[in-house]
Amino acid sequence: METLGHYVAGEQVTGQGARFSDVFNPATGEVQARVALASAEEVGRAVEIAAEAQRGWAAVNPQRRARVLMTFVQLLNRDMDKLAEALSREHGKTLPDAAGDVQRGLEVVEYCIGAPQMLKGEFTDSAGPGIDMYSMRQPLGVCAGITPFNFPAMIPMWMFAPAIACGNAFILKPSERDPSVPLMLAELLEEAGLPKGVLQVVNGDKEAVDAILDHPVIQSIGFVGSTPIAEYIYSRGCANGKRVQCFGGAKNHMIVMPDADMDQAADALVGAGYGAAGERCMAISVAVPVGDETADRLVEKLVPRIEALKVGPYTSGADVDYGPVVTAAAKSNIEKLVQSGLDQGATLAVDGRGFSLQGYEDGFFLGPHLFDHATKDMDIYRKEIFGPVLTQVRTQSYEEALGLAMDHEYGNGVAIFTRDGDAARDFANRVNVGMVGINVPIPVPLAYHTFGGWKKSAFGDLNQHGPDAFRFYTRTKTVTARWPSGIKEGGEFTIPVMQ
Ligand code: NAD
Repeated sequence: METLGHYVAGEQVTGQGARFSDVFNPATGEVQARVALASAEEVGRAVEIAAEAQRGWAAVNPQRRARVLMTFVQLLNRDMDKLAEALSREHGKTLPDAAGDVQRGLEVVEYCIGAPQMLKGEFTDSAGPGIDMYSMRQPLGVCAGITPFNFPAMIPMWMFAPAIACGNAFILKPSERDPSVPLMLAELLEEAGLPKGVLQVVNGDKEAVDAILDHPVIQSIGFVGSTPIAEYIYSRGCANGKRVQCFGGAKNHMIVMPDADMDQAADALVGAGYGAAGERCMAISVAVPVGDETADRLVEKLVPRIEALKVGPYTSGADVDYGPVVTAAAKSNIEKLVQSGLDQGATLAVDGRGFSLQGYEDGFFLGPHLFDHATKDMDIYRKEIFGPVLTQVRTQSYEEALGLAMDHEYGNGVAIFTRDGDAARDFANRVNVGMVGINVPIPVPLAYHTFGGWKKSAFGDLNQHGPDAFRFYTRTKTVTARWPSGIKEGGEFTIPVMQ
């Protein structure tokens, strides 16, 4: 069986630790590889190498650093099919969706090619007599990122591309569920001209994460994953004096107003609810129609669309709408939540239980579920299910629908479907959620805007990618310079103020 190791100092290394984790093919349920789990010592070694490599990399001018990223983009395009196949094999998502995962990461790399512009700094000529003032953005040093299973290409690139563009070295600790693509990305970046040691991949679990959190040389930590782990990493990383940004779980609502185009709303809900088997932090998991008549019309439109969904392995090609979930444990957790929904009084308008796919009986497939008549107190509404389960909560007014999204502890994404511009504008202004869609179900901002939720969906004040990433991966140094023409006789004992 294949053993996946780490990528350290420009080499694939199998690791010295005695611990490994199984990597499944979710479509067949088979273990297809095992991944080494790094020890704290192995993390420490990677940090030493990164610190050494970073000094040289920071001295490379921003335009040359950007050229490495330009070549990296070409290589990503060259190897797109290979990357998508490796991604689908370990994650389970369809091939076009896997290519989308790579593409959304690649778009952030493209944005980071603008590093020379982003890092230009600020300059004030003659801030005082003979005084100039300028601010520089300097790299932090060694940065680290801990990423989730559901976007094994996109999220690592969202972190390491801006970090590297800014002159940092980066240590990536990807999800142990699908480690192949992150390793391939590190190899490609080196082929693009990145010096050895600037990007390293250390696979592992809590032991490696804790070593990252406690290592004094690591200056910043980016995390994307579930909320309990986000909270843990944020508090321990901050307590250790690091710059930390953590992005957590989600429960994204889609409000459907009575005036919405119901076919459009139903199409949007099906794609956003069941795409990638619901394993997206921007998936819509709650449908919130306003008024019972809207709810009935929506269910009528949704049921045939959901029943027609094609579930299958990525190897079936473009004919498949979504694949298996990532592990048997994820499947069983989703099944338990579905059962809790029934026990707590919701009804299943589409019952996906007992789904089995001929020839793939051991795969982690789940049929699509649609709950109706769910209420605020139910677990299927409060918890993130992260599976092909859409939950409808009926409301009687716009204010009630808005309040529902606002009262939920998560605040990653939200959408409203309506033809009424006033309602949409009011919604976008008032809702306490980080990313808002108006007739757009999955409002993931493009690379040159920033991505981040509110409430329990994010911890820290800067978002991912866009201009925030250049702030997160640099620190500001401001220089005040006075030359002899501005120097007066004698010492000054009061605080300088602008007269
Ligand atoms: P997860 O929290 O289980 O794992 C994320 C990372 O944390 C992995 O690298 C994992 O190895 C590590 N980890 C897990 N347990 C740990 C522990 N006890 N101590 C230290 N490290 C630990 O998340 P996941 O299942 O891989 O991903 C799914 C979750 O990620 C969902 O909640 C989803 O909403 C969220 N997510 C959020 C965003 C966002 O931008 N807000 C994006 C994608 C995914």
